[in-house]
Amino acid sequence: MRHPAPEQPADVVARLRATFRTGRTKPVDWRTTQLRRLRTMLTEHGATLATALHEDLGKSAYEAYRTEIDFTIREIDHTLDHLDAWLRPEPAPVPPHLGEATAWTQYDPLGVVLVIAPWNYPAQLLLAPVVGALAAGNAVVAKPSELAPATSAALARLLPEYLDPEAVAVVVGGIPETTALLDERFDHIFYTGNGAVGRIVMTAAARHLTPVTLELGGKSPVFVDRDTDLETVAARLAAGKFLNAGQTCVAPDYVLTDPETARALEPALVRAVEALYGSDPATSDTYGRIINERHFDRLTALLGSGRVVTGGDTDRATKYIAPTVLASVEPDAPVMREEIFGPILPVVTVAGLDEAIDFINDRDKPLALYAFTESGTTRRRLAAETSSGGLGFGLPLAHLTVSDLPFGGVGESGMGNYHGRYSIETFSHRKAVLEKPLA
Ligand code: NAD
Repeated sequence: MRHPAPEQPADVVARLRATFRTGRTKPVDWRTTQLRRLRTMLTEHGATLATALHEDLGKSAYEAYRTEIDFTIREIDHTLDHLDAWLRPEPAPVPPHLGEATAWTQYDPLGVVLVIAPWNYPAQLLLAPVVGALAAGNAVVAKPSELAPATSAALARLLPEYLDPEAVAVVVGGIPETTALLDERFDHIFYTGNGAVGRIVMTAAARHLTPVTLELGGKSPVFVDRDTDLETVAARLAAGKFLNAGQTCVAPDYVLTDPETARALEPALVRAVEALYGSDPATSDTYGRIINERHFDRLTALLGSGRVVTGGDTDRATKYIAPTVLASVEPDAPVMREEIFGPILPVVTVAGLDEAIDFINDRDKPLALYAFTESGTTRRRLAAETSSGGLGFGLPLAHLTVSDLPFGGVGESGMGNYHGRYSIETFSHRKAVLEKPLA
């Protein structure tokens, strides 16, 4: 049997644009219906997605639900609860020279938007932006990552079954397919992934004067102050770092601390890793695997950057890299020259807070900065004297689960943001309206 040829990107976009022009995606009812259907898809096929995520990343079911499926459901529920309020036109005071008149802003959908997702949270990072795009009344082309093929195939099959197929399309494929999509004119492009491709996306978008959101990565530092409870620090640090085998955009990338605290932190980290994954993490049900051989080889080459405190074991056949802590790491060691994006945690020593702040400010602006400290002054100084996409005190990763906080980077870690009402801002045009009576 011959399969019909896949629809060309130009035809997909033309079809969605025609739908958008009919006005079908604009009523709030259409939007909430799509969100509810997406929610149903996630509840009815959570297990399908969890299996696919296990196949792609060795993700445990617990992690799949917590960080992808239930995470997206929460985003949907939060949006459904507040959408009417977020969309309400906002009155603006009118200056006296206009006499009797009213003015307000209202959110207009942009049109047809493109969402390009990466492989590390391949469901969440495709679907959470799609939630915002639909809530804002747009038609959407969703491009999942080819590097997570099982999840990508599941989403390509399920999304058209549940969502309005004339307004939502999934295009699967890698570089050639994405390149072809990027030739088309979109009204917004939302890209999550690395900065090199971010530049390609932005260049393509510039040809059509299309605005972009770039959710990129980078090295997110963790400052550990002296005199903190290191058992708590190590437990929270290890949990945030080794989730998804370190393949998290906001994972703690490296630790900055003074030499004495570094020495005390080492055994605490060993205990924390063992508490999470047992004495042999290779046999743990909850510890993930590296996405592919290319990343496995890249990561194993970084293991020589310091003294191994715990971990260091690898197995290429299963793409296993043990949760690894490296001590005595020099600031210019290979592991410090690129975003690690894997289960390796280097500890770099500095004299104290001043040097830590300089260390951070000497490098690209990170997606997240974390600190463990009891000192309010230290927290205030870090907040005021550094720049990062987000800032977390006492608990890595958690800020991005707060639905009312914007999630996004700054500088090399990206531009624009989303989640909750910030997704409405991202996927809408805020239109200024003035109304002056004729008589
Ligand atoms: P990836 O390789 O899956 O690429 C992301 C997307 O870009 C894919 O859909 C892919 O098809 C597309 N792509 C790849 N090459 C392309 C090209 N030449 N032209 C057009 N499209 C292309 O994922 P990745 O980039 O390896 O993801 C990891 C990076 O993403 C890390 O830097 C990480 O920090 C970052 N990240 C950021 C966030 C965030 O929310 N800020 C979340 C996750 C990952």
